[in-house]
Amino acid sequence: MTEDRVLSAADTREPEAFTVTRYRCPYCRRSWLSKKRAISHIAKCWWNRGCKTCRHADLMGGDYVDGCGLGEDLADPDAPFGEPPRILPRGMCPLWEPS
Ligand SMILES: [Zn+2]
Repeated sequence: MTEDRVLSAADTREPEAFTVTRYRCPYCRRSWLSKKRAISHIAKCWWNRGCKTCRHADLMGGDYVDGCGLGEDLADPDAPFGEPPRILPRGMCPLWEPS
């Protein structure tokens, strides 16, 4: 009775729309289902007062410009041999200035 099954009311119902709430980082736009995880991310987001938007770091150039006043060595301690040291960016920097 495959034909009856195809014509049953259950198979002719319309798809249902539903809404999912996600929580998005206002700095980098990544999102999570868990609000707690989003809050945790925002506290360390590289775009939240971090090196990626700071005038003291040139991440694409792999170096600091204009002197980072933080006094932390943010260079990758395990950079590949023969390559210039990369910056490991941080967020929520107290000395952040817009670039
Ligand atoms: Zn973010």
